[in-house]
Amino acid sequence: MTTTVITGIGELVTNDPARAEQGGLLGLLTDAAVVVEGRRIAWVGPAADAPDADVQVDAGGRAVIPGFVDSHSHLVFAGDRSAEFEARMTGQPYTAGGIRTTVARTRAATDEQLTSHVARLVAEMRTQGTTTVEIKSGYGLSVHDEARSLAVARQFTDETTFLGAHVVPADTTPEDYVALVTGPMLAAAAPHARWIDVFCEDGAFDVDQARAILQAGTDSGLRGRLHANQLTYGGGVRLACELGLVAVDHCTFLADADVDALVSSGTIATLLPGVEFSTRQPYPDARGLLDAGVRVALASDCNPGSCFTSSMALCIALAVREMRMSPAEALHAATATGAAALDRDDVGVLAPGKAADLVLLDAPSHVHLAYRPGVPLVAGVWQAGRPVVGTPGWSG
Ligand SMILES: [Zn+2]
Repeated sequence: MTTTVITGIGELVTNDPARAEQGGLLGLLTDAAVVVEGRRIAWVGPAADAPDADVQVDAGGRAVIPGFVDSHSHLVFAGDRSAEFEARMTGQPYTAGGIRTTVARTRAATDEQLTSHVARLVAEMRTQGTTTVEIKSGYGLSVHDEARSLAVARQFTDETTFLGAHVVPADTTPEDYVALVTGPMLAAAAPHARWIDVFCEDGAFDVDQARAILQAGTDSGLRGRLHANQLTYGGGVRLACELGLVAVDHCTFLADADVDALVSSGTIATLLPGVEFSTRQPYPDARGLLDAGVRVALASDCNPGSCFTSSMALCIALAVREMRMSPAEALHAATATGAAALDRDDVGVLAPGKAADLVLLDAPSHVHLAYRPGVPLVAGVWQAGRPVVGTPGWSG
């Protein structure tokens, strides 16, 4: 098996807890090297101690970080909602109802159109350093369209999530629709999905409906996640904690009891600050959550309605500027804790045996991700040991 050594790494973010004593939360190493063997990392350490390898790549003193793990996205859709965004920016509030417009367009699209659209977005993410992405269904809302949305998503990731319970379609009642989601739709979706999710919110699904849907998913072998407390206070976050879900997403409107529940359950709060940016809503209290001891992840929520960004670097910049996370906390949340939110320990960390998902930054340190907002800093990406985005000298 070919081995590649990447030397000249000015700053290496490992996220390796074994390096925390010297390297802090990010397990930082300076003047570092990484050896890649096949799809995995074989060695990490000081460049001066690096073993020989078949191929040598020089990072030129720049920073290398783990590939971003984007644990929350809605990439399977058709149509354009820029007019809705424009309207919202001129004074109209965001409501969950806009989802239905995307549903009509998605149902009308061919499999090929959906697939090529997802391919384009996944490539866009990869170019910006995302090497692991979760993709939800939720714009089909029929047995056929939810199943095919997930089949499309599965071509791009193992982290697929059945979100039939995104919104109740206009042509049915909530009771009938929950019966469909927990019955025939779940049966058709489950073979293509790892996770099940519910949009638990006023105007979408209440706590009792969310509980029933998550239970049905669990009975079918799926694992639960939840959209909760995005637009209003409510019981969604406490439900996620009670059920012991690995992550609950949004967490914008939290009462003290919600924070207490997150602390005691260990459920990860995945914050999606691109949504608040794109809807002019107040940001979640990341600082308060971290100070209380809650594990916080960051994800894009890339979707056509409330947040159409695929940039994890933007999410990091927003987390630092608007939510008072440190640059290190934000990067850790977008990599290692994002992986944990998908119950993955093979990505988000650069250590021997882990996936060789690496991003070379055109910068001397990870701090530039927040310090230089909006600037494309990704100079190279390796995914599963293979250069997928590259610059001369990096492509090996
Ligand atoms: Zn979402």
